[in-house]
Amino acid sequence: MNEDQHERLRGHRIRTTLKRVPGILADLEPTPKRGSGAGTSEPKLPISETVLEASQVLRNVLVSWARITMEERHVPPPTEDTVPALVAYLTYHSEWLGRHPVGEEAEDEIADAIANLERLTDQPSATVFAGKCPECGGAIYGKEGRDAATCTTRDEHDEVCGTIVNVDEGRAQLLAQAASMFASAADIAAILPVEAATVRKWGSRGHLGGYCDVVTREGRWLIESVMERIEDGDRMAA
Ligand SMILES: [Zn+2]
Repeated sequence: MNEDQHERLRGHRIRTTLKRVPGILADLEPTPKRGSGAGTSEPKLPISETVLEASQVLRNVLVSWARITMEERHVPPPTEDTVPALVAYLTYHSEWLGRHPVGEEAEDEIADAIANLERLTDQPSATVFAGKCPECGGAIYGKEGRDAATCTTRDEHDEVCGTIVNVDEGRAQLLAQAASMFASAADIAAILPVEAATVRKWGSRGHLGGYCDVVTREGRWLIESVMERIEDGDRMAA
């Protein structure tokens, strides 16, 4: 194979690798709420720090190669600074990039960043409890940031249940069950869209139901009263 074919193939590989990005992003971004819930501040599912970091790394890699393309090729910059726009831009210029003296570096950097993000989003440990299965009653875990989760509970014949639940609804049910429970500000901040410091502030001002743990001397707050307080805040902000 001659040098020209090598470079052409490299451009093709860069293009193929970039094609994987929209799928990863679709897995990461919660779809906007439709219908009556539109516009309200529904708690978004948490996406772990490492995933956020990896997507930031990918974005930086794409930005740097887009900049090189733009400056050396004297072409207009990408329409936007977003990952999808950068992917579209670099896909368009992939053949040129493949022929670039450091095209091999471009290929490696882009492939590494994408593979890393893929690996992290595929990690089975990055899961959230999505509530109980309405069919079999088994616990369902969803991947962080995804809308739907599948019940993987097996019955006595070793068949997977397979019921698909909406993660947000499952979480809402979970919260409804947790409403009458008491928890520390930090634990509440982990499940509700509120900062731990805010919970402590509300608690110290007497806005929340709760008690002081005699051992840790820390407040234990009624989750329901925190939820009400958040809703009140949303109403005032609306
Ligand atoms: Zn099930």
